[in-house]
Amino acid sequence: MRLILLGPPGAGKGTQAEGIKKEFNIPHISTGDIFRENIKNNTELGKKAQEYMNKGLLVPDELVVDLVKDRLSKDDCKKGFLLDGFPRTIEQAKALDKELEKMNQKLDKAVNIRVSEDVLVERIVGRRICKDCKATYHIKFNPPKKEGICDKCGGELYQRDDDKEETVQNRIKVYNEQTQPLIDYYGKKDLILDINGEQEIKKVLEDIINNLKGE
Ligand SMILES: [Zn+2]
Repeated sequence: MRLILLGPPGAGKGTQAEGIKKEFNIPHISTGDIFRENIKNNTELGKKAQEYMNKGLLVPDELVVDLVKDRLSKDDCKKGFLLDGFPRTIEQAKALDKELEKMNQKLDKAVNIRVSEDVLVERIVGRRICKDCKATYHIKFNPPKKEGICDKCGGELYQRDDDKEETVQNRIKVYNEQTQPLIDYYGKKDLILDINGEQEIKKVLEDIINNLKGE
């Protein structure tokens, strides 16, 4: 199974990725992990990526594509993979198609977890984290017994800057702008698998798996 995972911040992508990985026994490949791995192992590609990151620059498309290609050539990808955070642009999507063609492979689906903006904002803006033990809460879905206080250690709960409403709305806007062209691109190839991400986490995973198995 060769898959791409799309979903906005707050869609629960990480949890779903874990479930898909287990069900189909394929590696979950995120660009962040590839970067860290290559830098840690001091590979040629890792050294190049590090140079850009040290200067506070974005790693260019070409290099990202090279890093992903290298990762896809590893043995554990023979049975498939789940790509997360790649492709981000049409250029990257085309480069991926080309590479898969060379390997005589093709994508099975781009799984698109859909959640409305209102629901995303409610989910993210309500998050609270313990300053001391980092336990996570949600003011509506998983509130602490005493407002603002951690159940586990009595620490103070706070909201990450990233989770403030204005920032969240902006993150969602950026995501939508970046992702819509990809949805169109894969839609034309009839590869989009739309999933209702507003259901319970377990039900979302069930939907993904059942749909993929029905293919
Ligand atoms: Zn705590």
